[in-house]
Amino acid sequence: MGYNKTSLRAEEFIDDKEILDTLAYAEANKDNVDLIDEILEKARPVKTETGYRCSGLSHREASVLLACEIPEKIEKMYEIAEEIKLAFYGNRIVIFAPLYLSNYCVNGCVYCPYHLKNKHIPRKKLTQDEVRDEVIALQDMGHKRLAIESGEDPVNNPIEYILDCIKTIYSVHHKNGDIRRVNVNIAATTVENYKKLKDAGIGTYILFQETYHKESYELLHPTGPKHDYAYHTEAMDRAMEGGIDDVGLGVLFGLEKYKYEFAGLLMHAEHLESVHGVGPHTISVPRVKKADDIDPDSFDNGIDDDTFIKIAACIRLAVPYTGMIVSTRESEDVRTKMLRVGVSQVSGGSRTSVGGYAGYSSDERPHDTEQFDVSDIRSLDEVVAWLMEEGHIPSFCTACYREGRTGDRFMALCKNGQIQNCCHPNALMTLCEYLKDYASDGTKKIGNEVIDRELLNIPNEKVRAIADKNIEDIRNSNRRDFRF
Ligand code: SAM
Repeated sequence: MGYNKTSLRAEEFIDDKEILDTLAYAEANKDNVDLIDEILEKARPVKTETGYRCSGLSHREASVLLACEIPEKIEKMYEIAEEIKLAFYGNRIVIFAPLYLSNYCVNGCVYCPYHLKNKHIPRKKLTQDEVRDEVIALQDMGHKRLAIESGEDPVNNPIEYILDCIKTIYSVHHKNGDIRRVNVNIAATTVENYKKLKDAGIGTYILFQETYHKESYELLHPTGPKHDYAYHTEAMDRAMEGGIDDVGLGVLFGLEKYKYEFAGLLMHAEHLESVHGVGPHTISVPRVKKADDIDPDSFDNGIDDDTFIKIAACIRLAVPYTGMIVSTRESEDVRTKMLRVGVSQVSGGSRTSVGGYAGYSSDERPHDTEQFDVSDIRSLDEVVAWLMEEGHIPSFCTACYREGRTGDRFMALCKNGQIQNCCHPNALMTLCEYLKDYASDGTKKIGNEVIDRELLNIPNEKVRAIADKNIEDIRNSNRRDFRF
């Protein structure tokens, strides 16, 4: 035993002693200005012939930055985080929505209202007709990318049910709408089931670790299959063995001490990179929220907004090529700040209840099966307009995985600086679809100006001309789904 990032055993690649040694090293060096400057310099993107290169940071280096409390160094972290985001992801922000399929669950997670002992919430599972209705409602909002969510219950939500739902989702084409990427956030499962998910054409497989601290993990998941720390922590290795290239990590901040979680999260990323040759596609940063019988204050490790933003910036510095996701658990204000330090994906117009979209107007929301309170309750149209007002380009692009650019092939695109000739026009074309088919007049006006201005920022002349023509087609006809 001992720390070994290439081991396939959870307790070796997330070695408790290595995390504690890292935290001690970070604490000892948090005022070591020379070392901090050196780490910041290492994190900075370097211009190359084709684009930018970034070396990222080890979990030890990034932990020193997270421990540092010197205000001007923290400002530097934010500055470089934004530089990295712009170098690799440009000013695009990808948009998605969660779709809750079922809240049946056999686990005992103490932070989640879907836990088995909660007898007073109604249990609901969408039928395929209801999935269709939800998807139509989501398409009518303008969504193209979903993250499906479900409790763990082998009887009520077996893998066949999840696969049926994915099939239904991809089969719905309402007006000009379609869902082009389904990401999946379901409990840890077997290699065989991951293969089935891969064959069903999923995008990213997302699984939050919740906490990397084994003892706390076991206390927070006292009963049910999720109690098994190793099975949960090793899930991404099984997913990759099953052929899923894009996996999404996450920690539920508030459960354990954030510095511990941060080091564990980066060690998990280093493990995936060293074993599978590709790190996590995304990292999510949820914080525990109030929910039915859950009081976030009952957990001792809540973090304030400033710490939360600093964590996001340090993640951006450490894993420059990994997308970072912030959900509607966070308020508009926090999301605005998170976007400046490197977040690349946000959800919008989200409902966290089973059957929360169909039949409800944009300001009505059912609470009975909600997984947690949503802080950002704006409509998708408002989120799209806000992003543009903040200087970002909302993107509904799903091209990469549909063109086979997953795993290391996506990373190569990022590293070769080809994103500006690929993701940038794709973002503009999908934004144009959104504006034409779903936006309010005000959003349309801002958006069309953004598109006309940003088209000029496509470096390759040929690509620019094609994008220009496609945008004209979208504006003047029902032709859709152009992509590079
Ligand atoms: N059931 C799946 C599993 O076992 O991993 C995951 C799906 S669950 C619907 C998605 C995530 O919501 C969980 O992984 C957890 O991190 C988060 N979550 C649960 N309760 C929450 C709460 N009270 N506040 C914020 N997020 C919560």
